[in-house]
Amino acid sequence: MTTPSGTPAHTHHPLPSYLQADHLGPWGIYLQQVDRVTPYLGHLARWVETLKRPKRMLVVDVPIELDNGTIAHFEGYRVQHNLSRGPGKGGVRFHQDVTLSEVMALSAWMSIKNAAVNVPYGGAKGGIRVDPKKLSRGELERLTRRYTSEIGLLIGPSKDIPAPDVNTNGQIMSWMMDTYSMNTGATATGVVTGKPIDLGGSLGRVEATGRGVFTVGVEAAKRTGLAIAGAKVAVQGFGNVGGIAGKLFAEAGAKVVAVQDHTGTIFKSDGLDVPALLAHVKQHGGVGGFAGAETMANDEFWGVQCDILIPAALEGQITKDNAARITAKLVIEGANGPTTPEADDILADKGVLVLPDVIANAGGVTVSYFEWVQDFSSFFWSEDEINARLVRIMQEAFDGVWQVAQQHKVTLRTATFIVACQRILHAREMRGLYP
Ligand code: GLU
Repeated sequence: MTTPSGTPAHTHHPLPSYLQADHLGPWGIYLQQVDRVTPYLGHLARWVETLKRPKRMLVVDVPIELDNGTIAHFEGYRVQHNLSRGPGKGGVRFHQDVTLSEVMALSAWMSIKNAAVNVPYGGAKGGIRVDPKKLSRGELERLTRRYTSEIGLLIGPSKDIPAPDVNTNGQIMSWMMDTYSMNTGATATGVVTGKPIDLGGSLGRVEATGRGVFTVGVEAAKRTGLAIAGAKVAVQGFGNVGGIAGKLFAEAGAKVVAVQDHTGTIFKSDGLDVPALLAHVKQHGGVGGFAGAETMANDEFWGVQCDILIPAALEGQITKDNAARITAKLVIEGANGPTTPEADDILADKGVLVLPDVIANAGGVTVSYFEWVQDFSSFFWSEDEINARLVRIMQEAFDGVWQVAQQHKVTLRTATFIVACQRILHAREMRGLYP
C-alpha cells in the first residue's frame, strides 16, 4: 500500500494485548478519543498509530520495610507516552486503584495537554498502587525514595520530569529530588516540579491548576453569555484543584452550592463559605462534617441545580448513568479523564459545554514548565509575572481551540485533540523514523 506521495503507508499491526482497549477504562477511553480525531488529521493520520502505543513503560517493584518490621511490596509505574516534542512531563499518583492501564492513559493525556498549551514537553506519568493514608510518614518517605531510585533509569531534568498528582505533594517532590540528587551526585532541582519554594519551587505552582480551571471557565462564560457573578457552582474533589478553583469562582461572585469528596457530599443553596470550608478540609482531610452545610446522598450530587460543574477528583465520574441528570451549562474538567465518551455525547446533545481536561487543567503543567525554566536559569520570577504568563497561555490556547471547534463543528475535546495531535504528529513527521 502506498500513499499519494508514493511513500509506503504505515502498516497496521494489531495492538499488543496490554495496549488494547480496556473497555470503559481510561486507556480504552483515550483510544476512542484518538479515533474520533483521526479523520481531521489529514496526511498526519499516517502517524496516528504512534499515539496508540506508549513509547516506553517501566513497571517496578517497590519493597519497603514497614514500621512493624515486615516487608511490603508495592507496584510502581512510569510511562513515557510520547517524547516527540520534548522530555517527558507528568505527575506521579499514589492511589490504591492505580494500574498500568490507568497510568498509560494519564501519560497519553499529558502528551495531548502539553501540546495543547504548547509547552515543549512530551507526555509521561507515574504512579504507585498504594493507599498512602495507611502509611506512616517514615514509610511514605521510604516508598517515595525507593520508587524514585527504581524509575531513575528514565527520569532526569532533560529526560522526564515528574510532578505532583493525586495524593502527592511538595514533600514527596522534595524526597524525589533528594533521592535523584543523591544517586547522581549533584543537586538537580530540575528533575521534578511542584517543589517547595526553598528547593527551587515556583511561586503560584500550588494554585496553578485551579487558576487555570478558573481562567478557561471565565473565557467560556464570556463566549456563551454566562455571568460568573451569581452563577451556581458544584465541585467534585476539594483538594489542590477543586479547592482553589472553588475559591477563585467564589471570589468572582459565584456561589459554590455543592461539594463532594471521598468523605461525603455537602450542599448549601445560597452558597458555602468557601474559606471556612477550605480550613475545615485542611484540618479534617475532607468536606465531611462541615458545620455550615447540609449533607446529601453521594449520587444526588450529579442532579444538583447549578450553572457550572467542576469534576476535580478521579477518572470515569460522569458516565451514561448520570450525564442526563446534569443541570450545568458548563462542565470544567479539573480532573483527568472524568467524562466517558458516552457521557460526552449525552452532554453535547443536551447543549452542555464541556471544557476538556486536556486544556482545562493544563494550568498545573504550565507553571511546572515555568518552574523548570526558572530552575535551569537559576532566576526566579514574581508571582504576578507567573500568574500573568499563566493566564495569557491559557487564554491563547483556549482561543485557538475554540476557533478549531467552530471551524469543524466539533466539541472542544475533539478540537483540543486536533490541535494537539497535529503538533505532536508534525514533530514526529519532521524528526522521521530512526534509523
Ligand atoms: N499532575 C498534573 C497534571 O495532571 C501536573 C503535571 C505536571 O505538572 O507535570 O497535569
